[in-house]
Amino acid sequence: MILIDGKKAAAELRQELKHEVTGLKAKYNKVPGLTVILIGDLTPSQIYVRNKEKSANEVGLKSEVIKYPDSVEEKTVLEKIKELNTDETVSGILVQLPLPKHINKQKVIETILPSKDVDGFHPMNVGNLSSGYESSVPCTPLGCYLLIKKVEPNLNGKKAVIVGRSNLNGKPMTQLLLKENCTVTITHSKTKDLKAECLEADIIVAAVGIPELVKGDWVKKDTIVIDVGINKTDKGIVGDVDFDEVSKNAKALTPVPGGVGPMTIACLLKNTIECFKRTQI
Ligand code: NAD
Repeated sequence: MILIDGKKAAAELRQELKHEVTGLKAKYNKVPGLTVILIGDLTPSQIYVRNKEKSANEVGLKSEVIKYPDSVEEKTVLEKIKELNTDETVSGILVQLPLPKHINKQKVIETILPSKDVDGFHPMNVGNLSSGYESSVPCTPLGCYLLIKKVEPNLNGKKAVIVGRSNLNGKPMTQLLLKENCTVTITHSKTKDLKAECLEADIIVAAVGIPELVKGDWVKKDTIVIDVGINKTDKGIVGDVDFDEVSKNAKALTPVPGGVGPMTIACLLKNTIECFKRTQI
């Protein structure tokens, strides 16, 4: 079984991006800039943002974090986003989710200029991705896609089963694999026989949020299994895939942690650079 090393893949990607930023700096005399807005003091969000800032600095991006307390008014956040939209030194804007209840997530997402939407959540980017046009692609599915391609560069005709239909993961993952000519089945909480669906798959991407949902006897030999889940349990952080069981069957599998997670952040940096490049003449 191939253990897909997301940490190593992310380090390699960051190295490539670092070279790219050096080239962009030489060409344009400026570097791409990423601005993250962090609202409130949720510990996981603070950790994510700190890691994003550290990685952005590592590859040579200009990075900035704007922090607001939980009580910040929605209009203050929207005004700041509009200001960042017109700031030429800012290539990408990310508002760390989740947001406090009084702030409308959709309004926030739609206020970010689509060309600076490094998360790929703006409806314009969602539409472009599903139409097969150039767009920012949500970072986690983009990371999964790059890991799958490392194991199997030619995905033509492969059968992919996506477990979970979230806007964040399942749906964009479907679009990316469709573009690669996979036959894609998207499954969810109302799917009648999830095991039978998974047993058909050459590729399984599990993004559910249920610890170790995907079992060893759900996976046929030669299947590539990507585990997006991050679940806190008594035995520590586990994914949506039963690692011990599935590793006996699968052709390749991502561990949790150390699989998809590190690629998510590296893909955020990649998206920031892509946003910068699209705006240079
Ligand atoms: P979500 O809650 O938005 O969506 C979960 C999806 O799973 C839903 O579409 C639901 O229909 C489906 N589902 C629920 N129960 C099911 C069942 N029994 N069988 C089949 N499908 C079922 O979740 P999300 O935001 O996509 O996140 C999923 C997981 O991925 C979480 O554990 C989250 O922490 C993790 N995550 C990881 C990263 C990363 O960087 N590795 C990034 C984002 C999310």
